Amino acid sequence: MVVTVGVLALQGAFAKHQQIVEQLGFQTLAVRYADELANCSALIIPGGESSTISLQLDNNGLREAVTEFARNHPVMGTCAGLILMAQKTDSRMVTTLGLLDISVSRNGWGRQVHSFTANITIALDNGSADVPAVFIRAPRIDKTGPGVEVLGSYDHQPVLVRQGGHLGVTFHPELTGDQSIHDLFLKSVVT
Ligand code: GLN
Repeated sequence: MVVTVGVLALQGAFAKHQQIVEQLGFQTLAVRYADELANCSALIIPGGESSTISLQLDNNGLREAVTEFARNHPVMGTCAGLILMAQKTDSRMVTTLGLLDISVSRNGWGRQVHSFTANITIALDNGSADVPAVFIRAPRIDKTGPGVEVLGSYDHQPVLVRQGGHLGVTFHPELTGDQSIHDLFLKSVVT
């Protein structure tokens, strides 16, 4: 059976995620409306502008649907997607979904350093891997709740977290050609 992974396609960097997920042998669906989630086994919320995605979730009737979907399917959020998955953010422009018990600051790495690339070591279920991480106006995770595992850090700050099947990534794993993060996420997809 071919498993379909939805990629939220309201705004932002969704096409690259689709490419990687397809390279890993899954089918993808660009999700814009609630009924499309019925065909998906997992969902990726991409980077972009979290305030815009938040607004579009409401405009397209997706907020409730994504929250409901996340109760029994894995969701991965990258950059703006991670902000949306958080419990709390410092920005009034974003209404978060509360899928990960974390607090985040939008653009939390400081004004001067909007974007940078770093190599980070991530914990995998069977060891670890070094992955290149591209941070673009990245959020900073200020607080993690007790149910949240930190799988990767940069400069002593968590940048990759997991809670149950949900994965939160402050950087852009779709931009480097390295598939480790997507591979890790897709392992929690029940086939
Ligand atoms: N800074 C953006 C936001 O607050 C996120 C940037 C990104 O996704 N690359 O939504």
